[in-house]
Amino acid sequence: MAGNITLTMIKPEAMRNNVAGGILKMIQDEGFKIIALKMKQLSLAEAEEFYAVHKERPFYDELVKFMTSGPIMAAVLQKENAVENFRNLLGSTNPETAGEGTIRKAYATNLTKNAAHGSDSDENAQLETSFHFSEKEIFG
Ligand code: ATP
Ligand code: MG
Repeated sequence: MAGNITLTMIKPEAMRNNVAGGILKMIQDEGFKIIALKMKQLSLAEAEEFYAVHKERPFYDELVKFMTSGPIMAAVLQKENAVENFRNLLGSTNPETAGEGTIRKAYATNLTKNAAHGSDSDENAQLETSFHFSEKEIFG
């Protein structure tokens, strides 16, 4: 399966703004198949683990606080070259520079509250999928 899945999280502000449906529609319209989906609220420990790679960055505390501030939707998306294709659909991290037609251009609020997450490598897609889903919860 390596190479054809990616993990996304619809972030708390997008959930609060009630745009999860719009984001999932953009994902499906782009040809991604949703093979796993759940709504959950990350604990502090879970958010710290998920973002451990950013631990030394100045925005880490703000990021963890934000990501635990309400429920998220986690999903596994399947498409050829899923990681790169989904990051293209997401747009740049800072929504001010995100291109037309991207999820972040359409729905992000700012650099922290940027609507959705996307895995950055096939290896991390696998790790992040295992972080959120058991095998029985994935319908690939
Ligand atoms: P994501 O991992 O959420 O898909 P990304 O890969 O585009 O985003 P990363 O560098 O992995 O960006 O950063 C993770 C998240 O941390 C970003 O989505 C953003 O919410 C936040 N972040 C990144 N850089 C900054 C910054 N300079 N100031 C504030 N928040 C930031
Ligand atoms: Mg990232």
